[in-house]
Amino acid sequence: MPSEIKYKRILLKLSGEALMGEADYGIDPKVLNRLAREIIEIQRAGVQVGVVIGGGNIFRGEGLAKAGMDRVTGDNMGMLATVMNALAMQDALEKLGAYARVMSAIKINEVCEDFIRRRAIRHLEKGRIALFAAGTGNPFFTTDSAAALRAIEVGADLLLKATKVDGIYSADPKKDPSAERYDKLTYTEVIQRNLQVMDTTAIALCRDNKIPLRVYDMGVAGNLLRIAKGEPVGTLVT
Ligand code: UDP
Repeated sequence: MPSEIKYKRILLKLSGEALMGEADYGIDPKVLNRLAREIIEIQRAGVQVGVVIGGGNIFRGEGLAKAGMDRVTGDNMGMLATVMNALAMQDALEKLGAYARVMSAIKINEVCEDFIRRRAIRHLEKGRIALFAAGTGNPFFTTDSAAALRAIEVGADLLLKATKVDGIYSADPKKDPSAERYDKLTYTEVIQRNLQVMDTTAIALCRDNKIPLRVYDMGVAGNLLRIAKGEPVGTLVT
């Protein structure tokens, strides 16, 4: 029921790694389908959903540069990797009966639409799930920054970052059992404490444009819907 829903428009950031499941490369169709189902669930509940997908399950410019490749070439490959992931998600969403559109920050018109802000907003208003691919379209950025940017551009009222842990901790809880979990933080605290949530460019963009960020565990079924209804799942950064 739309009346139960707290947010009108959500921008969801999924890392490329989120799509790989237990594998160490590529896309696990089971994971892709589960995520697609959850996205459709909130869209049908009345939320307009934009998604930014990373590419780290295929290529990362930084890693390619460490192995000797030119950084800009590596970043271009990373951005193309995000397009592949977005196409896979578009396919999964459409197979499940939803309408989805991949919009790329770099022109690949035979494959998908360009990102045009007004058109993106139109897709969202029409109930299409907009998949924003190719990051910001520029090397030396990340898809976290792209997610912050797109969230602000399309006027999302929440930026959601899907992770494998249930919020933001003072240290990596998988390595440090004494790590403290936060329910709420400010952006300034995230930057000052150097908490590894998103890169500083993304955090600063969110802070300066006053968009709330929620970091949550995508491994728990139903979390997306709970968040859409306003339940305090994960950590809120404002
Ligand atoms: N990338 C880029 N510009 C952007 C976004 C991404 O050059 O605006 C490249 C960069 O090489 C990055 C790769 O695409 O490593 C994949 O994105 P990211 O590492 O953010 O993916 P994730 O970690 O979310 O899977």
